[in-house]
Amino acid sequence: MGKYIGIDLGTTFSCMAYINESGQPEMIPNSEGENTTPSAVLFDGDSTIVGREAKSQSLFEPQNFEQFVKRHMGERDYLFTTKDGDKYSPEAISAIILAKMKSDAESYLGDTVDGAVITVPAYFNEAQRKSTMDAGKIAGLEVIAIINEPTAAALAFGISKGSDKPQTIMVYDLGGGTFDVTVMRFDSENITVLGTAGDRKLGGYDFDNKIIEAVIEVASEDGLDINKDMTARQDLQLKAEAAKKSLSAKDKTNITLNISGRPFKYTITREDFVDMVEPLLFKTIGSMENACDEAGLEYSDLDKILLVGGSTRMPVVRDCIKEETGIAPSSEVHPDEAVAIGAAYHALDVLKDMQKKAKQSGDTSSEVFDVEIPETSRQYTFTDVTSHGIGVIIQNEYGEEENSVILPKNVQVPAEHTNHYTTTVPYQEKLLIRVTQGEETDLRYVTEIGTAEIQISPREKIVGIEVTISCDENSIIHVRVYDKDLRQDLGEMHIDRVSNLSDEEVKQSQMRISKLDISGE
Ligand code: AMP
Repeated sequence: MGKYIGIDLGTTFSCMAYINESGQPEMIPNSEGENTTPSAVLFDGDSTIVGREAKSQSLFEPQNFEQFVKRHMGERDYLFTTKDGDKYSPEAISAIILAKMKSDAESYLGDTVDGAVITVPAYFNEAQRKSTMDAGKIAGLEVIAIINEPTAAALAFGISKGSDKPQTIMVYDLGGGTFDVTVMRFDSENITVLGTAGDRKLGGYDFDNKIIEAVIEVASEDGLDINKDMTARQDLQLKAEAAKKSLSAKDKTNITLNISGRPFKYTITREDFVDMVEPLLFKTIGSMENACDEAGLEYSDLDKILLVGGSTRMPVVRDCIKEETGIAPSSEVHPDEAVAIGAAYHALDVLKDMQKKAKQSGDTSSEVFDVEIPETSRQYTFTDVTSHGIGVIIQNEYGEEENSVILPKNVQVPAEHTNHYTTTVPYQEKLLIRVTQGEETDLRYVTEIGTAEIQISPREKIVGIEVTISCDENSIIHVRVYDKDLRQDLGEMHIDRVSNLSDEEVKQSQMRISKLDISGE
């Protein structure tokens, strides 16, 4: 009987949890005995090192070292290239991290890990979610669901600290690379997402960069060019993060470097640091306002603001939120662990669902019945919403291309909406559907997810077509087409996604990654 776990695949750190036989959440330590694993990979000859050791050895092999790859998920053109010219997609790098975690979890639990729920930022788009699922597949992990990080944190909070009294909570999740804010309604059994906003590229990494920029500037005034010394540059990356963390506890700290053989020291105060990062934090305040607007609420309607993500340890984050909302934010959940725990709880729900479906279809011998599902102190059903509008590109009455939103932003998932269109010319033989993500009509402000093509029987007239877009529980998009003239369902169309690996590439990547010698040292 295998185990199902929850994995928080973070920009800077990843961690995993499971629910034990007594229904209690437990973190799963990695082979180094730590609950968090740096999401960092070092290609070191024949071995591939993941985690803390990869980070500390990165100084010696900066060109063979990759971290923060979560920021590139869903970017088709991004490839990490090693010194020897080997190329890895963001999915492959993430798969290497997941493969180490899976293997560590199996050693710790003394059992196979059959499947996992992986978390993603609520603000992740479709391509990034699909990339995350592909990364799991490449790592040989069955991804039974994807869940939004703030929703996972809310589940962890609700199950451990929930009450029967209905409450409205904002989850402010500022991690290593992404920022999410979500407003939710809790009652004794349901968590309903009312509004979500965020920034896919805002997190601890950017705060580190502010320090790095300042150091580079001061060093250059001293005639030192850090970018010419790869080792010093990598050292600065590590030391900037360490300095940022120590400024969460101290008023002042130093960064010492050796740049091209010359010693260099930079002193930074908490005040300097606050000045550097405040403009970024104002952006998070803008997102808080947007999430509340979407939910149709004022700050005064919130019962609590829950902090999640390592970067919320910075005192300036709390101060900013308090000043803006008048509410002192709460740290009732562990900022690094809540998301993985919520994912582990969600794995139980998905398993229950799988068992129910197997029973309904009469498949009583299904392996899913081998899994014993522990009872938890509380149970919630949650309802998430779409974080972006989904539509198709059409020709407007002037013959110009524009975006037509079919499934709006912020509707509860799973969701399905249909719009009516027509063919463009008589005797049209095929439909080419270009699926988009974004709310605007103007194509400059939307992203094309991919194209779907289907043959239709040509007719001498222009005919009506219905396009149905659905968004499943994992927020993955599906497109169906109905020919109104022939009253014929043309079925689900395969979307050729512009930002994702093809099925063949996933398979190839799987074979390649399975041959690597992946470890923590
Ligand atoms: P997460 O993705 O939630 O694991 O967040 C990791 C981010 O939190 C990284 O950018 C860390 O540098 C940052 N972080 C962790 N601890 C602290 C701290 N004490 N002060 C400031 N940032 C921190």
